[in-house]
Amino acid sequence: MAFELRPLPYARDALAPHMSKETLDYHYGKHHKSYVDKLNGLIKDTDFKNENLETIITAAKDTRGAAALFNNAAQVWNHDFFWRSMDPDGGGEPGGAMANRIAAGFGDFEKFRKVFVEAATGQFGSGWAWLVQEKDGKLAVVATPNAVPPFVNGLKPLLTCDVWEHAYYIDYRNDRGAFVHEFVDHLANWAFATERLEAR
Ligand code: FE
Repeated sequence: MAFELRPLPYARDALAPHMSKETLDYHYGKHHKSYVDKLNGLIKDTDFKNENLETIITAAKDTRGAAALFNNAAQVWNHDFFWRSMDPDGGGEPGGAMANRIAAGFGDFEKFRKVFVEAATGQFGSGWAWLVQEKDGKLAVVATPNAVPPFVNGLKPLLTCDVWEHAYYIDYRNDRGAFVHEFVDHLANWAFATERLEAR
């Protein structure tokens, strides 16, 4: 069974002006679609064709010669997660359970914001910035290179920002920092992240 390009949870122009329709047309309509198409080509006629995405990613990670499979499967998973990490009414300081957990993990929201932006802008080359939950329940920020999702390292992802150039170049040119600030201040989907929180 082939994977499908999962529908966006909002219209392509819904994140403007923070993320334009043109960016979604390219990033979702071309880049993400291309990962789905390549993944389907790679699993066709293999034992992976009936597996779920997480199983394929975990198996491919430690398999020699499976770098393309890992990269394309992981990028499908990462982008599905990224679109859901944003909301047209998102951004700013969360309330409720997430506010308490951010205070426990980082001190306060401003400190979290600084740590997240630094991780995102400090990631050399392509990659991802993540809010994750560690095994002891504590929240942390990590950056991962290229296609790597944090769950392959035992960390539960709560929220992510794509920091590949294709995520921001149309709207922000080379200014990754401006894009990541906009993500935190206007797009971050705290309801999605909070749903994924687990009790300590
Ligand atoms: Fe991307």
